[in-house]
Amino acid sequence: MKPTVLKDEVFVSIPENLLKVHQEISECVELCHRQLNDVRLLAVSKTKPIEDLEIAYMAGQRLFGENYVQEAVEKHQALSHLQDIEWHFIGPIQSNKSRQIAETMDWVHTVDREKIARRLSEQRPDHLSPLNVLIQVNISHEESKSGIALADLDNMVTLVKSLPHLKLRGLMAIPAPQEDELLQREVYAPLSKAFSLLRAEDPEIDTLSIGMSGDLSAAIASGSTMVRVGTAIFGARQYT
Ligand SMILES: *Cc1c(COP(=O)(O)O)cnc(C)c1O
Repeated sequence: MKPTVLKDEVFVSIPENLLKVHQEISECVELCHRQLNDVRLLAVSKTKPIEDLEIAYMAGQRLFGENYVQEAVEKHQALSHLQDIEWHFIGPIQSNKSRQIAETMDWVHTVDREKIARRLSEQRPDHLSPLNVLIQVNISHEESKSGIALADLDNMVTLVKSLPHLKLRGLMAIPAPQEDELLQREVYAPLSKAFSLLRAEDPEIDTLSIGMSGDLSAAIASGSTMVRVGTAIFGARQYT
């Protein structure tokens, strides 16, 4: 039996939530005198059923972000008829899973090791366009978090640019949770600066993936071009 009541609820709430998130983005964009189409919305659909992605798609959403390889591959397969979906992998990458990512995803946000970058390039099928890559930077200096230090960025940029089946598009970060907006911006400042320098040198570098439900305005003020929002669109997750 399908839980029809719940289903009817998501039919209304997902499109409404998307509208609210777009409104919040457009307010932030206006406040810091940026252009609305500078900031794209990545809908983070991890742990959510395929029907939720279909509802978001019907409401106009095209960029979806997944964290778990198996789940990402299944959803990619199930929705392969919706060819204009852009699939983004935003979770940690184990090297034994890199092939599945290289074969299905359009973007990867979490490249932070040479070995992973090389494998993704080698495993990207020839008939697909190069895999769009963001280098994940650790800006909160936490031992537990992934991402390279800003000091190592130049080397990683050189490496990713040298790999034939990858296309470097920019940087990504997941800062430690922090409620104060000024402190959020302070943490983003060195990353923003590094991104501007890269972008000035290379017009193909156009993406700064920062900003989640709790720090959209600080991220957009710091130059975000792609915000990653899950809960505010799809509701709370059962597990993460
Ligand atoms: C889960 C996740 C998000 C979205 O988080 P919400 O709190 O659900 O908005 C964004 N980025 C990454 C890397 C995530 O893993």
